[in-house]
Amino acid sequence: MSIRPILIHPDPRLKKACAPVEGVSDDLRKLAEDMLETMYDAPGIGLAAPQVGVLQRLIVMDCVKEEGADPQPMVLFNPKVQWTSEALNTYEEGCLSIPEQYAEVERPAEVTVTWLDMHGAACEAKFDKLWATCVQHEIDHLDGKLFIDYLKPLKRQLITRKMVKLKRERAREKA
Ligand SMILES: [Zn+2]
Repeated sequence: MSIRPILIHPDPRLKKACAPVEGVSDDLRKLAEDMLETMYDAPGIGLAAPQVGVLQRLIVMDCVKEEGADPQPMVLFNPKVQWTSEALNTYEEGCLSIPEQYAEVERPAEVTVTWLDMHGAACEAKFDKLWATCVQHEIDHLDGKLFIDYLKPLKRQLITRKMVKLKRERAREKA
């Protein structure tokens, strides 16, 4: 396994709709394992393939936050929201592609999602609480959508300007 660099917004690859995977190959399993390692290292609770520059429909997540609790890594190929509750929930969201910026986003409180697992088997589950918000946030990435797209334009522009500055500083450090 290896840690992959995470793309920082703004980046055209974070705005693209990703292609479905056609069968779960060894290469894709390796990518999923790298993404889990990258996510835990960051640390974060979710990561989508476009965030590591791969424009395919794959997300990983683990929303277990309680200290001492067993990790619960999940790998979802071609995840698709099949049902959303009318009830909404608000969480303060962040994103590994938008470091250190947080904002409240309102989303359906419960969702049913279908996907293919690491063995290519069809799965379906209902998610609630933080898991529901996380899975929706990650699936949005596969459609080129970021959590800041839910914010008012002024707030979104402010965050984007901060990220442009951050990227410039990081590029300078590397040079
Ligand atoms: Zn994100």
